This record gives sequence, C-alpha cells and structure tokens, in this order.
Amino acid sequence: MKTFLPFVLSLAFFAFVSTFSITIVNGQINESLLLGNPSDAKSDTKKQDDYLVIHSGYTLSYNKSRGTANWVAWHLSKSDVGTVDRSNAFAPDQTLPSSDWWIKPNDYSGSGYDRGHMCPSKDRSSSTEANRETFLMSNMQPQTPKLNQKTWKYLEDYERELLRKGNEEYIFAGCYGEKGRLAGKITVPTNCWKIIVILEEGENDLKRIDKTTRVIAVNMPNDETVSQRWRTYLTTVDDIEEKTGYDFLSKLPKKVQKIIESAKDSSSETDSSENKVDEVIPSPVTNKSPTDKKANSTAETRKTNSDDRVYQTGSRGGCYYLTASGKKSYVDKKFCENAVSATDTDKKEEIKTVPTQSKELPDEKPKDKNSKSDGRTYIKGSRGGCYYLNDNGKKVYVSDKTLCQ
Ligand code: MN
Ligand code: MN
Repeated sequence: MKTFLPFVLSLAFFAFVSTFSITIVNGQINESLLLGNPSDAKSDTKKQDDYLVIHSGYTLSYNKSRGTANWVAWHLSKSDVGTVDRSNAFAPDQTLPSSDWWIKPNDYSGSGYDRGHMCPSKDRSSSTEANRETFLMSNMQPQTPKLNQKTWKYLEDYERELLRKGNEEYIFAGCYGEKGRLAGKITVPTNCWKIIVILEEGENDLKRIDKTTRVIAVNMPNDETVSQRWRTYLTTVDDIEEKTGYDFLSKLPKKVQKIIESAKDSSSETDSSENKVDEVIPSPVTNKSPTDKKANSTAETRKTNSDDRVYQTGSRGGCYYLTASGKKSYVDKKFCENAVSATDTDKKEEIKTVPTQSKELPDEKPKDKNSKSDGRTYIKGSRGGCYYLNDNGKKVYVSDKTLCQ
C-alpha cells in the first residue's frame, strides 16, 4: 500500500487540478483555464499541434506545424500590472518538448512582420520574471505592424482601462488562417481574434458569471488595411468558435454559454483610441521577394530584439523598422548592430554607405527602453535634429527628419 501512496496522492492532485482548472506553477496560481480549455489541449507529444503549455502567467495550446500557439489564455487583475519595464528578452520557449519545436527570435527577421504578443508584456509587469515570460516566442504571432502597434494594442490598452474601473478579466487570444510562412516554419495568420470576459473584482469567479456578464469578442484581419478602431471588429464568441473549431467558456452552464456567446458587445463606452485619426496605408508590407536584389540587401543584417519591431539594415547601411503605416523609420544604427541602452542616443547620427555587420548577441539581454511603438510626437531640436521623447523622458533622435515636418 505504501508504494501506491505517491501515486494515489498525485491522482488526487490531478483530480483537484482538473476539477478546478487552477494550476500552480512555480508557486504561483495560474487561473487562465478556469473557464475551460478551448481545444482540450494536453501536454502529450503525440498531440503536437494542440500541445498544452502551462506557464506561470499564462497557458497556451502550441501548434508545432504552425510554429505558433492556437490560443493563449490568461487571467488579468490589478495586481498583474506594475511598473516593471518591458524585458524585451525574446527567447525560444524551451519548455516545449525539443529544439525542433522552438521558434527563435530571429526567425521573424526581415519579414516585415512584428512579433505580436498574445499575452501582452504590460499585463505581466508586476515582476521581472513575469514580464520575461511574455517574451517567449510561443506567445508571439506574426502580426502586421499596423495590427500589432495600433488595433491590437488599443484593445490591450482598453483591457487595462477596464482594470482601473474595478474589473478583472479572463482573456483568450489567438490567430488562424495562413497567408505565408516565415523562415519556412512560422505561419503568418490571416486573422487574429480575442475573447475577453469581464467581471467586477471579486471571488468565486466561475459562480459569478451569468447571462449578464459582459464579453468582448473581436476578429481582426492581419493586414495593412485593418482599421485602427478595434470596435470595427466586434463579433460573437459563437463566430470565433465556428472559425476556430474550439469551445470557449465550456466550464460555464450551457444556458449561460448560449446567451453570452451569441451576444455582440454593445457597450456604448469609448476610449481614447476612437478619437485618433486613422492612418492611410500607402502600401502593404509583404515578404520580400528573393529575386528582388534591393530587398535582399535590406534583409542581410538585422537585430531584432529591442521590442516588437524588427530592425533591418537598408541597402545603404541605415537602420530602420517599418512603422504601422508601412513606412521605413530610420533609427540609430545601434538598433541594427547590438544592444545598447538608449542613454546616448542624443548624439548626432549618420547613415554611412558601408553595410553594418551585425553581431550575434544572446537574445535574453534587456535592450533599449525606447519601446513605445506609436503615438509619438516628433519634435524639432534646436540644432535641426528630429526627436521624440521615450518612456524615460529622454530625447531619441531619428534620422528621418521628415517626421518633424
Ligand atoms: Mn503587441
Ligand atoms: Mn462555448
């Protein structure tokens, strides 16, 4: 009997975990699957396209064939948001079974697509460890700069605004469809969707969700024509269930699911993103054709781990990233070379005609703090330079002076 005790105990623990769908990882409680496991994913290597990965701060179903998650789930409450800076520590998710499952940060290089977080960096900013975890590549999807830096981000901002109004949230996010591949292994999705269940802060969440609970569901196109207004893409949970084949909120009574999954959010609330002018998109960002000589040279050196942006060295040696509107925005060359903090960016910069040789650095190092990806105000300096103020209030000079016009 003694020999069976550990077995019996682990069975009891497993029963506890599967009944309450609460997992304890590294001493932290992970409540992300309280409302159910949308695809019934399991940590079974035979299910390599629906493989359950439980991290401390979020849970996901990994799809090895796509090189991305099918869905990522997390719980968001006030205590998750703190003052920790983005770690920018993009890294392979080494909790996946073996290295041929891993996506590396540089696999997105030169593609024109951002590494778009599913569980946002800011949603896990109460500790350095929690934040670093959001930079695992299994939490990324190739998103167009406009989707990642505008539409998707504005909804993320709104989710945190809801926290400030006294709510907590259960969030599921993922992407589907295929319009291309990065590095031959990462699927570029056609759509990215999100489901947000909003509750007043409190206890016994599962019991409190009823037919009046507010749910926001969106389904956004992953292209450059996407409107930056996330409310344009409001839909129902039922619609996302149909598109993905998953069953969301399955732990709720069927009667409740039926009502809240078929309703489109009709709140008349607005947020500041609604008032921003939507940009006209001049040209779509696409994968560079291998026969395009100029495009080839732009992709030859790049360093990608400063933020979601993918920095690229241009044919004349300048360093740029693509903005949400598809324009090249030139930045200090150090972003293409190696990681230096943004402290001495006040210096004058120059674009030389010699292409820069990029040095490989470990991807774990925290990089520049200058990670605000949009909404910048460019200011003309007294000596004619053009700069914006980063999150730390430092001037960051850009070489594209037209931004100041
Ligand atoms: Mn993002
Ligand atoms: Mn459902």
